[in-house]
Amino acid sequence: MRTVRALQRLSRVLVCPCPPPLFVRSWSVAQRQSFSSGSAEKPMPGNSMLGHLTSKIKATGPISVAEYMREVLTNPVMGYYVQNDMLGPDGDFITSPEISQIFGELLGIWCLSEWMGAGKPSRFQLVEFGPGRGSLANDILRVFSQLRGALGGAAVSVHLVEVSPKLSQVQAQCLTGDQSQVSASEDEPVYRQGTTTTGLPISWYRNLDDVPRGFSIYLAHEFFDALPIHKFQGTEKGWREVMVDIDPDEPGKLRLVIVPAPTLASTQLIQADEKRRHVEVCPEGGVIVQLLANRIAEDGGAALIADYGHDGTKTDTFRGFKGHKLHDVLASPGSADLTADVDYSYLRRMAGATVACMGPVSQKDFLKNMGIDTRLQVLLRNCADPSTRAQLIQGYDMLTNPLKMGERFQFFTMLNHSRLTRPEPEQSKGGKKMAPVPKKGPAPLPVAGFSELGLS
Ligand code: SAH
Repeated sequence: MRTVRALQRLSRVLVCPCPPPLFVRSWSVAQRQSFSSGSAEKPMPGNSMLGHLTSKIKATGPISVAEYMREVLTNPVMGYYVQNDMLGPDGDFITSPEISQIFGELLGIWCLSEWMGAGKPSRFQLVEFGPGRGSLANDILRVFSQLRGALGGAAVSVHLVEVSPKLSQVQAQCLTGDQSQVSASEDEPVYRQGTTTTGLPISWYRNLDDVPRGFSIYLAHEFFDALPIHKFQGTEKGWREVMVDIDPDEPGKLRLVIVPAPTLASTQLIQADEKRRHVEVCPEGGVIVQLLANRIAEDGGAALIADYGHDGTKTDTFRGFKGHKLHDVLASPGSADLTADVDYSYLRRMAGATVACMGPVSQKDFLKNMGIDTRLQVLLRNCADPSTRAQLIQGYDMLTNPLKMGERFQFFTMLNHSRLTRPEPEQSKGGKKMAPVPKKGPAPLPVAGFSELGLS
């Protein structure tokens, strides 16, 4: 119970700041799922991404949906993420950290609780994948700064895995002010580094491989849904891959086709006992999860993955979003976000037995277990401005309401096995061992967010 009590203390510090720091985001809240479907657009004349893709298809034949997604989203010159700041009211979608400060604050408490659960190692890396505008990391670092005493002098450093130079600039402005420098050479594994406004070293990388090894808490919020998926259709002849081709009737348009012969992907990526007739698989997500599992097993730490997803039940979830509306995935490629729900059953399979996995649990349950109700009450108690109060309540509703983001968004964690292992039996006073306790068994210490801790 020691860790639970320590967490309860931490949580009390956070929920009783005086005066409470309040950082209400300045736009009204919205979410990807609530928008009606837009009609399919005509391709933009002179769309260079469309030209690039059609030349590719003319040269080599239809391309996989994974290759299409990779090109459209992360092509180093024209990619959607590389070129745009797509988050917020003037962008294409909005995410939980952008909706309410409470989201990041509670994730900050989660990071601290896992660091404590691991025995408070003296070095602690916070690693975030796809940090968007930097809001989540900013809210977490504010919590770390407020609870500096609890961190007890641990050497904390921040590591961001971000493919977009444009967004890395936005993140650097948010997290460091102007205290960051871009590396002299484009080939450097660390392409930007600096010091956060709270005084911590911070670095930017393109790949997880470049992030230094060591005890780390890894966070991925709305990151895995942006990774390329392969799509497959069950047919009378077996599984066939769905690919992207040029529409023969309208050569300036793309269409999805089911290719007649098996592909390497269709023979490798479908489970023998698959029951669905349409399946999406994200091998890039699987590789990242395996790398994370190995790091967590060898160096200690935990990963928290939060995204809209399912547990191996959904079929066709590939979607485009533009201006907060659904958008035809093949129209004007590069001008809209592309996304697919995360298949947590696949991620769990890829992690294997290397780490302990928990979840997915719904965002509503996770945030309530983390004490969101109490945090909201404290902020409201200390806030007299009616419009700020309304925004706080609206943000809370958006995050937790099952009809909004409360159920569709899911939290999943990977932990070092030692985190869930019973400690060695203690010596009794007379030096005699107490009753034998199995070394492995159900978690003796609860994992915050995944079980009710009574944090309020
Ligand atoms: N986590 C943020 C932003 C989500 S948008 C939030 O919740 O608000 C997806 C983010 O992942 C963007 O920062 C995008 O640039 C980044 N990204 C997408 N694909 C990536 C890849 N392959 N490698 C690294 N970053 C990637």
